[in-house]
Amino acid sequence: MTSMIDSYRHKGMRKKLVEEVRAKGIRDERVLTAMEAVPRHFFLDSSFLEIAYQDKPFPIGSGQTISQPYTVACQTELLKVEKGCKVLEIGTGSGYQACILEELGARVFSIERHHVLYKKTKALLSEMNYKAKLFYGDGYQGLPAFAPFDRILVTAAAPYLPKAFLEQLNPGGLIVLPVGTGDSQVMKRIKKIDDKKTEEENFGYFRFVPMLGNKVR
Ligand code: SAH
Repeated sequence: MTSMIDSYRHKGMRKKLVEEVRAKGIRDERVLTAMEAVPRHFFLDSSFLEIAYQDKPFPIGSGQTISQPYTVACQTELLKVEKGCKVLEIGTGSGYQACILEELGARVFSIERHHVLYKKTKALLSEMNYKAKLFYGDGYQGLPAFAPFDRILVTAAAPYLPKAFLEQLNPGGLIVLPVGTGDSQVMKRIKKIDDKKTEEENFGYFRFVPMLGNKVR
C-alpha cells in the first residue's frame, strides 16, 4: 500500500501520544517504547490521521472499535509480556494491540469473530510485516490446537471467565480481561498457579464492546 507512509510528522504525533499515556500513569518503559514503534495511523482510514494520535477509541467498521491507546497500554502493562511469550488475544479488531504485543517480543495468536475484520486485518499485518497468527472464530473456545499459552488477553467485555482460557494456560500464566455485562467492566488479572488454584486481582473500570457468541459474517 503506497499510502502507508510513516513521516516525521506522524512520529512526532506518536511521541506526544506516548507522553500523554505516560502522564496518565503507564510506567513500563517497554510498553511505551512499543507504542512509539507502531504507526497507529495505519490502522485507521487515512482521513482520520489526527484522530489516530488522540487518546480515544475509534470505530473500525463492523460496529467495532480500536481501543483507546491508554487502555491498550494498561492491558499490555498488566499482561507482563516477556520475550518469547506465547500470547493469545481474543478480539483482533484492527490488529493494533497484536502489533504492540509483537513489538514486546511475544509470539502472538489472535482470534476475531467478524470475518470482514479478520480478512482486512490479516492483509494489513502482512503488509506491515508482522508475524502474528490470525484466526477467524469464536474466542470463547480459545485456540485449543495451539495451546498452551503463557498469556491470554481479552480485548472485548467478557460476561465471565470462559473455562477454556484456564485450561489453555500454562501454570504461572496470566489472563487479563475486562469482566462485566453493563456499561463498564472491571479489569481483572488472573494468575494460574496450577490446575486447582488461581489468584485474582482487580484494576478498576473500563469500557469495552461486548464479547459476543457465534461467528458473524
Ligand atoms: N484489540 C483490538 C480491539 C478490538 S475491539 C484492537 O487492537 O483494535 C474487540 C474486538 O473483539 C472486536 O473486533 C470484536 O469483533 C471482537 N470480538 C467480540 N466477540 C468476540 C469473540 N467471541 N471472539 C473473538 N472476537 C470477538
